[in-house]
Amino acid sequence: MNHQTIDDRNTALTIEDFAALRENLHEQRLFRREQLQQLSAEANAVPERQGAAHIEVRVRLAATARMVLTDVEAALDRMDQGRYGACHLCRGPIARERLMIVPQARYCARCQQVREAYR
Ligand SMILES: [Zn+2]
Repeated sequence: MNHQTIDDRNTALTIEDFAALRENLHEQRLFRREQLQQLSAEANAVPERQGAAHIEVRVRLAATARMVLTDVEAALDRMDQGRYGACHLCRGPIARERLMIVPQARYCARCQQVREAYR
């Protein structure tokens, strides 16, 4: 009985966990959608008065928002399809505590590290 293994075993999500994660994902989706709307509204407002630096910041913010939104929507799809919480690379379970911090995570901590190392 090795219930002390660190990363992958203690991953079972309870129904309450799922509800909390789903709510978190919904909130993030709403937030990112509003952010994107706001950014595009800003982009349309008097563009000639906006400096290049300002535009660059906005473009970066929008790119991040779009990326997170894509991840969040994919995570919600996975929830609906009952595939939530499995790593896309190794197919192993993603640790519960990781999902609690990053509900839209596609990879377990190990695979994420590998991906970042090769970026
Ligand atoms: Zn993995």
